[in-house]
Amino acid sequence: MAVYGKILVAIDLTEEAPQVLEKAKAIRESSGAEIILVHVVEPVGYAYGGDIPMDLTELQEQLDKAAKAQLHSYGVEYGVPESNQIVTVGRPESEIHRLSEELSVNLVIVGSHGRKGFQLLLGSTANGVLHGAICDVLAVRIH
Ligand code: AMP
Repeated sequence: MAVYGKILVAIDLTEEAPQVLEKAKAIRESSGAEIILVHVVEPVGYAYGGDIPMDLTELQEQLDKAAKAQLHSYGVEYGVPESNQIVTVGRPESEIHRLSEELSVNLVIVGSHGRKGFQLLLGSTANGVLHGAICDVLAVRIH
């Protein structure tokens, strides 16, 4: 049996995402693993702060919709069925931890910028995912 049967691939939907997806694809080809794609949409309320009362539901829905469409096109490109494309709302690290447990994945793949010094202190999603992960984590160096 392959070491990694089920892999959660976290995608930030920037132009860097294909670098992470290519690695996931190569691992799938050599192991036959199932791939699940996830993108976490951050709640708009976080960025906005909420000083003035405002209904952000529509904006949130638009962001979710755009993320689903983008994830769907990656799904088509990389042969990941719709049932394995997940868009969720929250903090990326927490959502990735939650899903890796719920879906019983044995590997999480994220991109990593290899930050140093002050940038490292500020933290990164890859660091956040690694800390508290319940399975192996592969950090793909983004170039
Ligand atoms: P960052 O530390 O934010 O530069 O992101 C590094 C990596 O974390 C990305 O290449 C993705 O694998 C993952 N990531 C960041 N943001 C998200 C997100 N909103 N949803 C899913 N994965 C993410």
